[in-house]
Amino acid sequence: MAQNYYQKDVETMPREEMKKLQSEKLVKQVKHVYENVAYYRDLMDKKGVKPEDIKGIDDLHKLPFLSKADLRDAYPYGLLGKPLDECVRIHSTSGTTGKRVVAFYTQHDVDLWEDCCARAIVAAGGSNKDVCQVAYGYGLFTGGAGLHGGSHKVGCLTLPMSSGNTERQIQFMMDLNASIICCTPSYAAYIGESLKEQGYKPEDIPLKAGIFGAEPWTEEMRQNIQNTLGIKAYDIYGLTETSGPGVAFECSEQTGMHVNEDHFIAEIIDPDTGEVLPDGTKGELVFTALDKEAFPLLRYRTRDICVLSREKCSCGRTLVKMAKPMGRTDDMLIIRGVNVFPSQIETVLLNQGYQPNYQIVVDRVNNTDTFDVNVEMAPEQFTDIVSEILAREKALAEAMKVMLGINPSVHLVAPKTIARSEGKAVRVVDKRKLI
Ligand code: ADP
Ligand code: ZN
Repeated sequence: MAQNYYQKDVETMPREEMKKLQSEKLVKQVKHVYENVAYYRDLMDKKGVKPEDIKGIDDLHKLPFLSKADLRDAYPYGLLGKPLDECVRIHSTSGTTGKRVVAFYTQHDVDLWEDCCARAIVAAGGSNKDVCQVAYGYGLFTGGAGLHGGSHKVGCLTLPMSSGNTERQIQFMMDLNASIICCTPSYAAYIGESLKEQGYKPEDIPLKAGIFGAEPWTEEMRQNIQNTLGIKAYDIYGLTETSGPGVAFECSEQTGMHVNEDHFIAEIIDPDTGEVLPDGTKGELVFTALDKEAFPLLRYRTRDICVLSREKCSCGRTLVKMAKPMGRTDDMLIIRGVNVFPSQIETVLLNQGYQPNYQIVVDRVNNTDTFDVNVEMAPEQFTDIVSEILAREKALAEAMKVMLGINPSVHLVAPKTIARSEGKAVRVVDKRKLI
């Protein structure tokens, strides 16, 4: 398959050259941070590291980590690397884990971020012939702004829909022949469900590709979205702290996301000891931003759990690939001592023919964790025969027991009774935290 690249030189750069480029940028960036960000200078001083000690990426491990707690401590201006009058934009995290972070951008930062998103759109087959429907939320959230900017750079005809108002999304998609859609995977599933209800078949829908990210989603969910919308569904990853979406993006191989390594160095560490782990090992993802001026984070711990791979990719890109993050350290539920990720439940549901409409409810009663999974039946699965429902709940609970090692109570609920999400889905209600 012919490959298109947005910035071919860097996307296919030989590894040695890339290492050299990263090394040069790192030396400069560490100096910039040390001179301009007092908060990080203190961390370096405490660790006894000086900018001169960093001569290239092999010295990266000498630098201190930065965590979400540091970002909270330094809120709002403590990590600024440029005077405010050189900054042009602020974005903020969606606060999934309850702690908002604000990030600052110079025009240079915005430009590079949009380039990263443009690479993702081109890798998904986008060009100036496409109509790109941006259905991520616009505003403080980075999803809308990032893909909007990337779409402009590629020269797509951009439909700045933002999220929500699904009726209107569908009307514009159909009337204006949207060929690419960008949104969260849960919203894509919701739009797909609505299209199906309105009687559209995959072949009636003008879309050819979707670029979905901002939350964890499984391979099974990808298949589900691809089948309903009749598209190829590409993953995209990023976080506000590192600009937004576009830190990594998927190519036609759809086997993980290429990290934009000319702008970001990725490392995997052991979340308990901080030790750097070799490629292929699962651990916490850490990013160093090489070009960001206004909010230049070094060795930022994302809490996302992931694996890196340097296997050759059929698309010709030489950029390292990150697997789908399987959740974050703070998404992981420990239920009766067992680690449970919502993504494992999603895999079971989709394998058993259910839609990805579910919610996990955890509570603690008499010192024991309760573990309930509410699962919606699709309209065609609906039944009110109690014995049938009980048998299906039992089968699902057994399949989850095999996957997780512990037994949930599964409750099948009527179609459309679990709230849909237009942004990031709320998969877990953990009532234990309220005690
Ligand atoms: P918040 O931490 O409030 O959700 P952001 O909106 O910046 O803030 O979201 C960034 C986080 O979203 C990432 O750290 C990661 O956990 C998640 N995320 C983003 N893209 C993906 C993706 N493609 N797959 C899985 N998780 C993702
Ligand atoms: Zn590739």
